[in-house]
Amino acid sequence: MVEPIYRSTRSEREQWIREAGYNLFNLRSEQVYIDLLTDSGTGAMSDNQWAAIMTGDESYAGSSSFFRLKETVKKLFGFDYFLPTHQGRAAENVLFSVLVKEGDLVPGNSHFDTTKGHIEFRRATAIDCTISESFEPGILHPFKGNIDLVQLKKVLDTHPKDRIPFIILTLTCNSSGGQPVSMQNIREVKALAEQYGIPLLFDSARFAENAWFISRREAGYEAKTIKEIVFEMYSYADGMTMSSKKDGIVNIGGFIATKHKDWYDQACTYNIMFEGFVTYGGMAGRDMNALAVGLEEASETAYLESRIGQVQYLGAQLSGYGIEVQQPFGGHAIFVNARHFLPHVPKEEFIAQTLCIELYLEAGIRGVEVGTLMADRDPESRENRYPKLEFMRLALPRRVYTNLHLDVVAAALKNVFDRRNTITSGYRILEEAPILRHFTVKLEPIGERPV
Ligand SMILES: *Cc1c(COP(=O)(O)O)cnc(C)c1O
Repeated sequence: MVEPIYRSTRSEREQWIREAGYNLFNLRSEQVYIDLLTDSGTGAMSDNQWAAIMTGDESYAGSSSFFRLKETVKKLFGFDYFLPTHQGRAAENVLFSVLVKEGDLVPGNSHFDTTKGHIEFRRATAIDCTISESFEPGILHPFKGNIDLVQLKKVLDTHPKDRIPFIILTLTCNSSGGQPVSMQNIREVKALAEQYGIPLLFDSARFAENAWFISRREAGYEAKTIKEIVFEMYSYADGMTMSSKKDGIVNIGGFIATKHKDWYDQACTYNIMFEGFVTYGGMAGRDMNALAVGLEEASETAYLESRIGQVQYLGAQLSGYGIEVQQPFGGHAIFVNARHFLPHVPKEEFIAQTLCIELYLEAGIRGVEVGTLMADRDPESRENRYPKLEFMRLALPRRVYTNLHLDVVAAALKNVFDRRNTITSGYRILEEAPILRHFTVKLEPIGERPV
C-alpha cells in the first residue's frame, strides 16, 4: 500500500504548530511530511497479513482467530495462558490490576512511560536499575538495556519481598534508546529474581529486535535463529505484556501471556471488564489473524536485517554530521542527544521538545520528545523531574519509508544543527494533565524565535 505525502511550506508549518499548542501530538497527519513520531501501529502489513485479514473469524466467543494467535504465542514464547488486549498499555492495565498494590516497588530497566504510568497510578513506584553506561550516549556498550545487578540486588535486599510484585525487563529498552538486553543479563536477573522468590515479567514490544541484537553481539548465539533466541529469552520469564503495534507489525493490538494459571484466572475478570471477552479482548478476529502472521514475520532474520539496517543507516548519517546520538544505534529509532544539540536552551524550557519543534519547522518531519515533558512531575513534590538525558527520538515505522526519505531527514536535521547557536530559548507550559502530560500538553514559545 502506498500513499502520497504533502510537502508543506515553512509558513504553513509555523501556523500549524502554533495551532497545535507546540505539541507534535496535536498535528494532523497531513501536516506531517515524514512521520517518525513512533514505530507503533505505523508499520505496513504484508501480503500474507492482508490475506489473513480476509479469513478472520469474528465470533464473539471461541473464534478460530483467537486460537490461531494463542498457538503462535505458545510456539514463539512458550506460554500456556494467553489473553488478547486492545494494545500494550491495556495489557499493563489488566495484569497490573492483578499484581500491583499501593506502596509496591517495581524494579526494572528504564520503564516505558505507560508502564510507569500504570505503576504510579496504583500509587506504587518504578525503580530504574539500568546500567550507568546507558546514560552516556557516547559509550559503546553492546547491551545498554541491561540491568545493573548490584543496584537490583540492593533494592531486593532493602525491601520486603511482598512489596515487590515482580521485576520488569523491557526488551528492547525503549526509553534508553531502543537498547537491547543481553541473554546473559536476562539469565542473571532471572537467577536473582528466583533467589528472592520474585517473578520476572518482560515488557515485550520489541522482543524480535532484542533477539536480533543478541544474535549479532552475544557470543554463542551467532548460529541460532531469531526464533530460537526468542524462545530461550522467554524461558526465563514468568509472563509478558506485549504491544503488538511494534514487533507484531499490526496497526492495533496487544496481549498478556504467562505460565501462571492464577495470574491468568484473575486477569480474565479484569479483561472482561476493561477489554472484552477473553477470546478477543478488544481485538477483531481479523486483526488477531494478522497479528499471528506478523509475529512470525517480525522474527525472521531477513526482515530484521533490513529493518534494523535502516535505523543504522540514519544513525550513521547523523553522527557523520557531528550530531550526538545514543550509541550504538538502537533497534527502532535514533535518539538524538538534545542537550548536546542545543546547549543554549535552559533545561526548564524543554530542550528536547524545542529540538522536535525546530525539526518540524525545518522540513515537516515529526519526531518525539523523550525528555523532561515525558519524565513528568514527581508524584509527591509536583516538581519537574529532569531525566539524565534529553532525547529527540526519530522512530522508524516498519516497512514504510525508503532510505531516500531518511536522506531528507538527515539533511533537514543537519540544517537545524548548522544554526543551533541561534536557538537560545525554548517553551513554557500553558496547560498540562496531571499524568502522562506529554500527550496533551499545550506550550508557548519563550522569547524571539529565529528563522
Ligand atoms: C508501546 C509500548 C508500550 C505500550 O503499548 P501500547 O500498545 O502503545 O499501549 C509498553 N511498553 C513498551 C516498551 C512500548 O514500546
